Amino acid sequence: MISLPVVSVDVAAGLDDRRRMRRHDPILAKLRARIPLADLVGETVDLRPAGTKLRGRCTAHRDEGGGLYVDEAEGYYLCYSCGRSGDVVRWTRETYLCSEQAAIELLCRRVGWTPPAA
Ligand SMILES: [Zn+2]
Repeated sequence: MISLPVVSVDVAAGLDDRRRMRRHDPILAKLRARIPLADLVGETVDLRPAGTKLRGRCTAHRDEGGGLYVDEAEGYYLCYSCGRSGDVVRWTRETYLCSEQAAIELLCRRVGWTPPAA
């Protein structure tokens, strides 16, 4: 059993995320509630149960140890090796190397919603 340091979502999310969360708050909250983060991450990462979280190999670097943890209850991922972290929108941005607006559009289409105007 691996014991993980306690990282608050606020601290890990950083200022950039907090600004973003304010700007798109309603749609972001809806997307987070609608799209299970583990499903999204699980499309590109083999996730295995690890305590109350899921664990896999981070896609941002060579990760033999499996430092990427997905907290489905919080809708939040964090890599303990490189520090990358975020929610469904951040994961989409990092995976598809796209803008925040493009990520929101992609995720809205995924669940059959009309994306908000830019
Ligand atoms: Zn990483």
